[in-house]
Amino acid sequence: MKKLPGIFNDVIGPVMRGPSSSHTAASWRIARVALDILNEPLKQALIEFDSNGAWAPNYREQGTTMGFDGGLSGLEITDERMKSADSHALQKGIVIEYRVSSFPTDHPNTVRLNLRGISGKTAQITAVSLGGGSFEIRSVNGFLVRLYGDLFGLMIFNADKPDLSDELKTRIPPGVEFSSEQIGDLIKYEFRSSSPFPTELMTHLQNHPFIVDIALINPIMPVITGRETEMPFSSIPSLIDFARENDADLGDLGLIYEKCISGDTAAKLNTRMNDIIHIIHTSIKTGLKGTNYADRILPQQSHLIREAENEGRIRESVVNRIIENVSALMESKSAMEVVVAAPTAGSCGTIGGALKAISDSIGSSDEELVKAWFAAGIVGAYFAQGPGFSAEENGCQVECGAASGMAAAGIVQLMGGNAKQAIDAASMAIQNMIGLICDPVADRVEVPCLGKNISAAVNAYASAIMSISGFDAVIPLDQVIQTVSDVGKTMPSCVKCTGKGGLAVTETALKIKNRLSGL
Ligand code: SF4
Repeated sequence: MKKLPGIFNDVIGPVMRGPSSSHTAASWRIARVALDILNEPLKQALIEFDSNGAWAPNYREQGTTMGFDGGLSGLEITDERMKSADSHALQKGIVIEYRVSSFPTDHPNTVRLNLRGISGKTAQITAVSLGGGSFEIRSVNGFLVRLYGDLFGLMIFNADKPDLSDELKTRIPPGVEFSSEQIGDLIKYEFRSSSPFPTELMTHLQNHPFIVDIALINPIMPVITGRETEMPFSSIPSLIDFARENDADLGDLGLIYEKCISGDTAAKLNTRMNDIIHIIHTSIKTGLKGTNYADRILPQQSHLIREAENEGRIRESVVNRIIENVSALMESKSAMEVVVAAPTAGSCGTIGGALKAISDSIGSSDEELVKAWFAAGIVGAYFAQGPGFSAEENGCQVECGAASGMAAAGIVQLMGGNAKQAIDAASMAIQNMIGLICDPVADRVEVPCLGKNISAAVNAYASAIMSISGFDAVIPLDQVIQTVSDVGKTMPSCVKCTGKGGLAVTETALKIKNRLSGL
């Protein structure tokens, strides 16, 4: 059964550097799991992208190589050295080659890693990026697997050895899943657990005469799964009923949702959200201070709003603060500073920029801001159950569109609205973004991404005001989210982050692309 998305694993986060969560963060995570599977220091890697996929035309510009170079050379994704991850890999003596190839896949964001370790050991791994930094490893050395980086794993490949499945099954401790599979004379044994493996099991495997190599795969996601409890609501309509019956607001429901997904306490989850908000506010400060990065289209502009106010060209307003904050976040992202992908790096400006501006203007407490982020998070979790956040599959309607709906719900929460009003605000905001294409100029996530993030944030504010004032959303949120999925299927691939349509192919965009390719 497909797991429900978590707010921290799939919606708010990862904390990262890089232009794109589906390109950079997912690649980095795939690389780290792949290294665990190889289970020896890496010497050489060939990374292949499918020629018909969305990654083939822009894997370098959108930061996929940055993610793989950093992940395969052992950098943390927030490390300053991620900015020059290719040099770091070379310094460590690791040769990483990229190639556009052709291989069977049904997903536009598919990558095949061919790894060779220092002793000559090899591993071939196929993986897909699911949007927002989520990923799935789908095959290892020809065996079909489903690894999401949210559990501890052990993987053993044995050739020309007797099948140990029956014997190993007798040793599996409670809570550890075991499976085995044979292809030709190669047998794969796999163990999965939400806790570290017991010492007795590890000792038994390490001393087994027929087992020569055990790969320990560490979880890479912030929340380890497998401790889920029953959710008291199963759909958006039932969530609204639950809120009414229990006098709960959408922030409360977001926290309940994540408690059920993670098995963690409210205190731990609130602290985690508070930490995330702190990082976002630091990214805003960094952006406002001024950022530099050579491979970039736009200069710093976030300071221009305050300048225009000071010079009397515009009047101060909360909308100005939204524009300023969103711009600062997007500038931090484009300068490869640390940001929180929420729900993606490309749309990281919308929620953070809007919620900070509104909370500053009405004087919200830290606790109220945490609740607003949980309200945004649960809208994102239901969105993730639908189309998800991959622009390569559904265009910008699932990046800035989703972010706008999430921000609208968060603003209603900040303003003291109830769960129904927050859900209706999300519905209205997303309705206004349906059909939004993904057409980044020169494959940099800047133009028209900055304007789309600002529009999404201001649209969120307008939708929240409309909902609290009693405007009718007409179409319920679950039906709006379904429509996003339906519309996504009808959008041509040229406007789904491939750089082959929309503004990306205008005369000006092509000139910018040529100029930047000479850097
Ligand atoms: S257009 Fe939207 S989806 Fe595409 S890269 Fe820009 S922000 Fe992301």
